[in-house]
Amino acid sequence: MEYRRLGKSGLQVSALGLGSWLTFGAQISDKVADELMGIAYDAGVNFFDNAEGYAEGKSEIVMGKILKSQGWERDSFVVSSKVFFGAENKGPNQTGLSRKHVTEACHGALKRLQVDYLDLYFCHRPDKNTPIEETVLTMNTLIEQGKILYWGTSEWSAAEITEAIAVSKDYRIIGPTMEQPQYNLFERKKMEDDFLLLFRDHGLGTTIWSPLASGLLSGKYTNGDVKDTRLADVKLGWLKENVMQADRLHKVEKLQEVADNLNVSLAKFALAWCLKNPNVSSVILGASKSAQLKENLTALEVVPLLTDKVMEKVEEIMGTKPVLSQF
Ligand code: NDP
Repeated sequence: MEYRRLGKSGLQVSALGLGSWLTFGAQISDKVADELMGIAYDAGVNFFDNAEGYAEGKSEIVMGKILKSQGWERDSFVVSSKVFFGAENKGPNQTGLSRKHVTEACHGALKRLQVDYLDLYFCHRPDKNTPIEETVLTMNTLIEQGKILYWGTSEWSAAEITEAIAVSKDYRIIGPTMEQPQYNLFERKKMEDDFLLLFRDHGLGTTIWSPLASGLLSGKYTNGDVKDTRLADVKLGWLKENVMQADRLHKVEKLQEVADNLNVSLAKFALAWCLKNPNVSSVILGASKSAQLKENLTALEVVPLLTDKVMEKVEEIMGTKPVLSQF
């Protein structure tokens, strides 16, 4: 495993992490979740990603039980939670980024995950109803109370992150260390354009999500079959619609040829492509089966195969490279 500093912070996270969205407490049994965490930890993964909103809190309960039963040393792993969507209840003060909810959500996550502190705590989305100042001050308080170690954002715009940093400088308190954006061969604008100044001037770290665009970039959907996958869940119709777009499937077919020429699976190829970006601190893997995770955990081996020529071919197929707006 390779370890990368989370931006300019001193924390080292595994270049490949493991997340629990849609899987823990939902799509997979607790036994499979336990297997997946064991496989990941044994391969050197030290970062496990979670959120209050995943399976309405159940995902954290499952992960907490596993962390406890595995008995891993607390200093050998990094665990996260995220606040915004609420857990089981969605009343007026049970979602969002107010001082009240951020504080209570942190207490809830600590309880569900059965840990004394969260290593990483993310604002899962921006909250248009709460001043950024209120959230930044609350996060700093949680750090001072020893309940969280680093805080960050997820799916915030560059302007919102910049404002959070400015507030933290005004008050001389601890600002956001990391952002969690979607990043994969289809979604590139934030990582490759919007955030460039934040990387250069503020050393922002990133833990990126959906590196396989929900499995699309494994190539398994080009035959149109969604059986035994997350897309078979009728509640995830919005996701199926997003994934099963004809132009996307066509690009995946073309990418498959590039991966075939290198003798690697498309999933590993697509993950290696994310890993190649030096502004990525950790690529969060998702998996519903042990075999998927075992395959994905070897993606670092593929990075050296991504030569300039291969990268050019990828750009030709994808046409998703953002035109730089900042420099
Ligand atoms: P991916 O895009 O990598 O999708 C993972 C899914 O793809 C798996 O669950 C599996 O689904 C399928 N898959 C994985 N590997 C393979 C393989 N080798 N061959 C075939 N299929 C494969 O990541 P996720 O969307 O799961 O996101 C990863 C993590 O990122 C989440 O767990 C979460 O922690 C975080 N996240 C954060 C968000 C945020 O807003 N901050 C939003 C979304 C995710 P299937 O069961 O269908 O086979």
